[in-house]
Amino acid sequence: MLDSHALDFDRRHIWHPYTSISTPLPVYPVARTEGVYLELSDGRRLIDGMSSWWCAQHGYNHPELVAAAKRQLDTMPHVMFGGITHEPAIRLCQNLKTMLPDNLDCIFLADSGSVAVEVSLKMALQYWHARGKPRSKFLTIARGYHGDTFGAMSVCDPVNSMHSLYRHFLPEHIFVSPPQSRFDGEWQAEDILPFQTALAQHHTEIAAVILEPVVQGAGGMRIYHPEYLKQVRSLCDEYGILLILDEIATGFGRTGKLFACEHAGIQPDIMCIGKALTGGMMTLSATATSRHIAETVCSGKAGVFMHGPTFMGNPLACAVAEANMQILQRNEWPQQVAAIEQHFQTALTPLRQQENVADIRFIGAIGVVEARRPVDMAAIQRFFVEHGVWIRPFGKLIYLMPPFISTPAELTRLTDTIGEAVGHNDLFL
Ligand SMILES: *Cc1c(COP(=O)(O)O)cnc(C)c1O
Repeated sequence: MLDSHALDFDRRHIWHPYTSISTPLPVYPVARTEGVYLELSDGRRLIDGMSSWWCAQHGYNHPELVAAAKRQLDTMPHVMFGGITHEPAIRLCQNLKTMLPDNLDCIFLADSGSVAVEVSLKMALQYWHARGKPRSKFLTIARGYHGDTFGAMSVCDPVNSMHSLYRHFLPEHIFVSPPQSRFDGEWQAEDILPFQTALAQHHTEIAAVILEPVVQGAGGMRIYHPEYLKQVRSLCDEYGILLILDEIATGFGRTGKLFACEHAGIQPDIMCIGKALTGGMMTLSATATSRHIAETVCSGKAGVFMHGPTFMGNPLACAVAEANMQILQRNEWPQQVAAIEQHFQTALTPLRQQENVADIRFIGAIGVVEARRPVDMAAIQRFFVEHGVWIRPFGKLIYLMPPFISTPAELTRLTDTIGEAVGHNDLFL
């Protein structure tokens, strides 16, 4: 068990995501993980409702992923990718190509989601540069989230991600209001108008459109109608503008399709993947594009694509990702995800009646309860831990994206606890 000295060191010296070093919120020491459980250092076991932010889709310490890592660790944990190649990267990319939309032919391996997004933006910029028509604007919808590096931040929701903090440093892109038509509602034809108008107005400056398909994650957990994506695809085609889809959160089954763009039956020109790529065990991401775009990118003055992370193609991460592809290819996930969606339908829908609840929405293995007021983070986190679950809300959003292997009893525990939490006024600000 961690002593108070260690926790005090953590509080004083270690930053956690989006926290203050001077007034940090409490953190819970986790000593080990197994399946859907996080075990705290005092021995308490929590059912995980977050999959460690979309990642651990088959639960923790999956034996096949662990075995793949151990095998690779003994032969070659890492080697540079410049001038060198290796079996783990080749096998992974061969396998990925069978899973990605079939127009995506060339793969750039990187180390985190944000970097995959940077790479996608750079591909689009180099594409236009090579064609002798340099363009520097991206078009996106508000309430999006694409990562925390500067390029990625510049296309995140301008309010949530606090563009004002970095004004004059962030490039300014074009934002339109996000679609209002819900995934579970009727398509409203006027929903595409802001996007259509912006494209008509700015198409000669726009290098690419970048969006999260169907589910806008960290920017507000919004789930929109796939018809929007379909129309975005055809407008991009009409104007000859590239479409980048950020499937970092939605990829690998989370929404009930292998990739969320399948809900709309469309293919992107460039796709970013990450998060669940390694089943949540290692940090790895990728940006995939069509052969035509890849070749155009490399036909310019540079003659190459100008990016190359130190840990590009890390063999350990690739070996684990490849093992994860094999788990996915056994095709147990569609039924697992459908069962979770069914559970959300039954267990979350009645919460709509609760006074503190503004909205309920779900798709695949993503369930969202939007409260009327922001949560009291320290209080609600303590409440969840005392009830044996790990759920980490933000703002007014209490949401679940549990591992696909969660049993009905475990799911019930998660949703019952949320049901109880929304009945407590003192857990909200
Ligand atoms: C998490 C996320 C990213 C950023 O990935 P990191 O690995 O945190 O850099 C980008 N886009 C989306 C949609 C995400 O959910």
